[in-house]
Amino acid sequence: MYDFIIVGGGIAGLELGAMLSYDGSTVLMIEQAEHVGGRTFVHSKDGFELDNGIHLVRFGRKSAVADVLRHIGKEISFKPLGKSYVIDEDNRFILFPTSPSGFLTSGLFKFSERLKALQIMIQLKRGKEEGFDRYTVEEWMRGAGIDGGLRRYFSLVCASMLVCPIPSVASAQALAENIAMVLKTGISVEYPVHGWQKDIIAPLSDAIRKNGEIRTGTKVDSVIIENGIATGVRIKDTVVNAKNIIMDIPSQELGRILDIGRLKDERLKTAVGLVPTSGISIDYAIDGRISDIDGLLYLEDPMSFGCFVSNLSSGIAPAGKSLLTWFCPIHNEDMKQKDKIKNYQQKLENRIEGIFPSLKTKIIF
Ligand SMILES: Cc1cc2nc3c(=O)[nH]c(=O)nc-3n(C[C@H](O)[C@H](O)[C@H](O)COP(=O)(O)OP(=O)(O)OC[C@H]3O[C@@H](n4cnc5c(N)ncnc54)[C@H](O)[C@@H]3O)c2cc1C
Repeated sequence: MYDFIIVGGGIAGLELGAMLSYDGSTVLMIEQAEHVGGRTFVHSKDGFELDNGIHLVRFGRKSAVADVLRHIGKEISFKPLGKSYVIDEDNRFILFPTSPSGFLTSGLFKFSERLKALQIMIQLKRGKEEGFDRYTVEEWMRGAGIDGGLRRYFSLVCASMLVCPIPSVASAQALAENIAMVLKTGISVEYPVHGWQKDIIAPLSDAIRKNGEIRTGTKVDSVIIENGIATGVRIKDTVVNAKNIIMDIPSQELGRILDIGRLKDERLKTAVGLVPTSGISIDYAIDGRISDIDGLLYLEDPMSFGCFVSNLSSGIAPAGKSLLTWFCPIHNEDMKQKDKIKNYQQKLENRIEGIFPSLKTKIIF
């Protein structure tokens, strides 16, 4: 009998499991894949550490994961990102503002837009905007008269921060909350200096194992509920019991193992119906170093963003080699159409290889 069973070994389950185990509870983590990490899983290939897409840690040293690691006695250091740029159709690099001074100097804005940008940021930091929870990002931009360079800016922020390139289906509330948090903490995103596997996933997994067990390659089929209380989980013909059952699986999948019809929480029902974000991620393992840029690079067509991750962490690529990762968020419906995905991929590769002409001759994979 464990104190806690955690179903799903994603980052949320790992963080919680590590804290519970460190604080003295017995924990059994059950993960269906052959490895933990979930969407933050790191794939190793020929000495390169490939994150799933670009995985930057929101709020970096002030993030939840940094707090959890400190709680279990593991320090973590982060590398702040350098300057970020929007790359226009003519391959010109335009500063993408990540601080108030950026709004005053970026070529993305006209003079009047600079002042408006600062005004909007002050409003968002105060967090007192009415009706955000009812609006999409598109409705908010239209209502607030946001156009020109500011529209370009907020559309890109929506694509990267909310992983949604379509402002008409993204939540203004989520965008506002994220921007407010960035303004309050003074940190947008940072990267663990030795990468996700070494700095985050390994120490969290070790902490769980100290007082518990991680069972990978094991799928939970259902949660057993007796008299309204979760008492265990079913794995094929076996039942494992625990005093508490915690689910860390994507909200859309909860209905598969839990009779959610019996649960009265309206937020849970909403979560189950959420349309997931999705997209294409391309990794370029490069023989040599083709850029010193250590911030994000944005494209508006296709709306996407990239990063020389090896310029943030030296442990990500073998010595003398580098890693460029690009992520293109795509509407979930488009992901079901192979032709569309192929088009996006081709367009993206043409753009990236046009921006960095030396790249093509140096691709390892
Ligand atoms: C390409 C990409 C890039 C991203 N970039 C960023 C970023 O830069 N910054 C950021 O903050 N966030 C980013 N995210 C989002 C972030 O990865 C997720 O929010 C986070 O990883 C979710 O963690 P989780 O633990 O909630 O769920 P998951 O990672 O989905 O973990 C759930 C786990 O449950 C397991 N599971 C499911 N069903 C069962 C079952 N029946 N039995 C056993 N196990 C089961 C799954 O295999 C999985 O391992 C990105 C996501 C993607 C896909």
